[in-house]
Parts: sequence; C-alpha cells; structure tokens
Amino acid sequence: MSGEGGKWKEILVSKYYTEVDARQARIKYQSWWWRDLVKICGDGVEEGWFQKATVWKVGNGSTVRFWEDVWIQSTCLKTLHPRLYSLSCDQGKLVGEVGSWEEDIWRWCLNWRRDRYGWESSLESDLLTILSTGSLSKEAQDHLLWRGDPKGMFLVKSAYSILTNHQQVSIKEGVFCSLWQAKAMPRVLVTAWRVLLDRIPTRANLIRRGVLVNSPLCALCNTLEESSQHLFLECVFAQRVWSMCYRWIGILGA
Ligand SMILES: [Zn+2]
Repeated sequence: MSGEGGKWKEILVSKYYTEVDARQARIKYQSWWWRDLVKICGDGVEEGWFQKATVWKVGNGSTVRFWEDVWIQSTCLKTLHPRLYSLSCDQGKLVGEVGSWEEDIWRWCLNWRRDRYGWESSLESDLLTILSTGSLSKEAQDHLLWRGDPKGMFLVKSAYSILTNHQQVSIKEGVFCSLWQAKAMPRVLVTAWRVLLDRIPTRANLIRRGVLVNSPLCALCNTLEESSQHLFLECVFAQRVWSMCYRWIGILGA
C-alpha cells in the first residue's frame, strides 16, 4: 500500500484512471467490482472511513493537497480551520505549491482573498505554528501511511478496529461542525475551539511545552493540576460560574 511502484497499482491506474494524481484521479470506467470497493471504503472522497484511516507523510509535496488532505495534523487543515479555508486562494493546491525553496530552506507562502480581521489573524498565527512543525524534502516522494499501525503498514486487524470505532470519530467531528455554526461571537468560538483541542496555555500545557512556571496547580483553587478540563469544568470556581449561568438561563430552578 505504501509503495509507489507496485504492480497492482500500475494495473488499477491503467484500467480505471485517466490520470495518475492520487486522490484527485478521475475515474474513466467503473466496473461493479470497483464500485463495490469504493463503496466499502466509504462513499465520497472527504467522508470515507478509509481516507480518515490514512495520513500523508509529505516529501516534496507534489501529491498531497494542502487544505484537503490529512498530512500535518490528525485532521485536514480545511476541517481544522474552516474560516481560513474560506479565505484562502490556495484551495485545491498541492502542499508543494503553497511555498517555495530559498536555497535549501522551505518557506511557506499563504495567499488570501483579503486582509484578515483581528480574530482571523489569531487563527492564522495558529496555522503558521502548525506549519512550523513540518517541512518538505526536495528529494523524497509523498507517502500514504496507515494510521492504525505504528509503522504505517496496512493490517486487516487494525482496519476492523478502525471500522468499529468509526462512529465515535464521526461524533467528534460533528461537535466541531456544530461549534462553527453556533451563533456566538467569533472570539468565543475560537476560545471554545481551543479548549476542545486543548490549545489553551494552562499551567499543565506550559510545563509540557517547556515554558517555566512555578507550579502546575490551578491558579484559582490551588489544589489540582491546571488542565483545560480542570479549568473549565472541574474546578470549584468554574462550577460556581457554570451554576450561575444555568440559573441565569433558567436551567436550574434554585
Ligand atoms: Zn481549580
């Protein structure tokens, strides 16, 4: 599966595709066998469980789509940053087309339809932080890896395991869709989004990132580690705030 020059691949591509362009390849002919195979992998390029079970290891970026494919995070950048995606002039472009080499150093160059507002700039900073963790390699080819195995090799056993957990993954992605559709102020949505992804600079996260703090304990209650979950849900101070909010909107009678 991860090899580029497999005989099986040559046969399938010559029989079914008009061009060799990985996931964007256009199908010229569909047999019943091929239709069944596509159906088993999940209908549609974006939603199929098989697509979600694979991740690209980027080499020169000549095969992988920057926004639409999964390559630098566990989710594609289009899903992670839908707002920025809607502003991007790079939709559909390959990773290797969203930047250039300056001698041996890869420089990202994102193109936008217009200037970003304040809260969009913070999203852009987050995206640039993500991109700073990845770099291209001039000589290497892009490779597709199987996420169910540490070595990236496809195993039927792990495919079964992924299929049985598929529903849970769908629920998680549904939460993000609901969040971005909520009628709340953008900065509130961004904060909620950061909490869900655990990107809040809590003391636990600052220690994990090597930023020095005196103590990992919560600044409010000073008894338990200050994680996102503790700060927003479990801390006695947070619970009091939630309780007041519930009363305010009439969920609690007391
Ligand atoms: Zn606390």
